[in-house]
Amino acid sequence: MIRAENLHKTYRNGRKDVRAVDGVSIEIKKAKATAIIGPSGAGKSTLLHLLGGLDKPTSGRVFVDGKDIYGLSDKERAGLRNVRIGFVFQFYHLLPEFTALENVMLPALIRSRSILNTQYSIRDMAGELLQSVGLKGRASHRPGELSGGESQRVAIARALINEPEILLCDEPTGNLDSKNSESIYELLFQVKAESGTALVIVTHDDAVSKKSDHVIRIKDGRVVQ
Ligand code: ADP
Repeated sequence: MIRAENLHKTYRNGRKDVRAVDGVSIEIKKAKATAIIGPSGAGKSTLLHLLGGLDKPTSGRVFVDGKDIYGLSDKERAGLRNVRIGFVFQFYHLLPEFTALENVMLPALIRSRSILNTQYSIRDMAGELLQSVGLKGRASHRPGELSGGESQRVAIARALINEPEILLCDEPTGNLDSKNSESIYELLFQVKAESGTALVIVTHDDAVSKKSDHVIRIKDGRVVQ
């Protein structure tokens, strides 16, 4: 489903090169959960961003369903990302001036911006998604009125609205307490079980790697196991 071939990403920090990702070749399987673990600064986030087409590698290739995503134009890659891949970030990245419902609707509106008459069903779908993540009563709240756990649930609903085949999660509970973390992971694994979405989770949580089908350990930009 996603295949990375000899991926490299080097940042220039002052006069020093930082090899954030240093020759990674991995495969993410359909409908499976993959945990990416490793110490801070190991290159996990950089790798996840490269897998999802959010960044550009210094060299190497990423194939999504056989398509070389960095061989596409920026616009084509953005289109593919919006439709095929959902993202969940540590700090939610909700738009503060929009309600929870509107935040969830956004990726679908972007996808179908020319078809105005679909907006009603997008609204319905966003409402259903909010209900499925346990936030039915929060649809009209703005992010500033939501707790961390609630904000992450909105972000998960938003990531799901275009029915992605892959959900990439970058330390999705890094900003939450243990109780909220557990319920967010429960939700993510439930989504995977019910929709068959592949999950890729950058995490420090051993319980998550135990529940995952595959574990990729990263150190100094390389896969160590
Ligand atoms: P992790 O997610 O495992 O904590 P990151 O992928 O965030 O690791 O970072 C890997 C390395 O790349 C670190 O040394 C980090 O400082 C460096 N790095 C990440 N992003 C940038 C950037 N935009 N510019 C310069 N260096 C970066």
